[in-house]
Amino acid sequence: MKPSLVVVGSTNIDMVIKANHLPAAGETILGGDFFMNPGGKGANQAVAAQRLGGNVTLVAKTGDDIFGKQSVQLFKDEGINTDLMVVDDINPSGVALITLDKMGENTIVVASGANATLSPGDVENASDAIANATVVMMQLEIPIETVEWVASLAKSNDVRVILNPAPACELPTSLFPKISIITPNEKEAEMLSGVAITDLDSATEAARIIRAKGVETVIITLGSKGAYISAGDISELVSAPEVEAVDTTAAGDVFNGALAVALSERKSLRDATFFACYAAALSVTKFGAQASAPSRQDVLAFVG
Ligand code: ADP
Repeated sequence: MKPSLVVVGSTNIDMVIKANHLPAAGETILGGDFFMNPGGKGANQAVAAQRLGGNVTLVAKTGDDIFGKQSVQLFKDEGINTDLMVVDDINPSGVALITLDKMGENTIVVASGANATLSPGDVENASDAIANATVVMMQLEIPIETVEWVASLAKSNDVRVILNPAPACELPTSLFPKISIITPNEKEAEMLSGVAITDLDSATEAARIIRAKGVETVIITLGSKGAYISAGDISELVSAPEVEAVDTTAAGDVFNGALAVALSERKSLRDATFFACYAAALSVTKFGAQASAPSRQDVLAFVG
């Protein structure tokens, strides 16, 4: 049996418009191509992890609508276990509106819909899967009480918990000691530590502050610079391979999916972060969120 990875998180439909530049406040611009893609950080990370060789169970909530049904079918087609997915009879499936500019930068607004109602009660059916998982991974597009409930259950069963603290928000102090590995990007690390990340020294200081809240391991993703690991006596920058970026949407999601798979395979923190940097770098060379998540074969070929 492959080690099991449980992702508890969001699923959305992304509606993407390409434009020459991102609109400023109050500005209306004419965009170009329009796409509808499956997204949501939970789903993106689950799909990335499954393609990279993970044995993934996704615990997420959709509306009782066409978007929800389509998403579940797509997860099944990927080989993800959807038995513990939940349907909301009242609220619609989550939707994200994304603008993407010529440089590959984006802005995103999310209407959470059913994601916002994924309660601890909904997740209770997944208790056995969580307690028996090798790794549990979460993000912050579902209610924080659900994140904390899952983290408590995982911790009491000695299951490693990865929290990707995105989108950036403040976290209850009681949550930190239940998290094994936290993976903020620069903005999220600043929100959690109060330190603006401008270089390796500030990343080191931010990680020190976050670890002092009770998290064993902090991995700060630094975009094209790679990722900084702070754990035990490790303090190390893992550089990103150089690629031509066309769309950074979901780079962090692919990074987290890859990290979780590698850790579920008992790889070291350094090796798992290296694998995650290569997987995420490949993803920014392609458009889309789930569409850009590479296969395990592609990543291994890229690593060489
Ligand atoms: P997020 O997508 O959450 O904002 P980052 O921008 O930090 O997170 O990207 C996550 C990871 O994706 C980085 O740690 C890095 O490994 C990879 N990555 C992002 N942008 C690039 C890039 N331009 N070139 C190579 N790797 C990248």
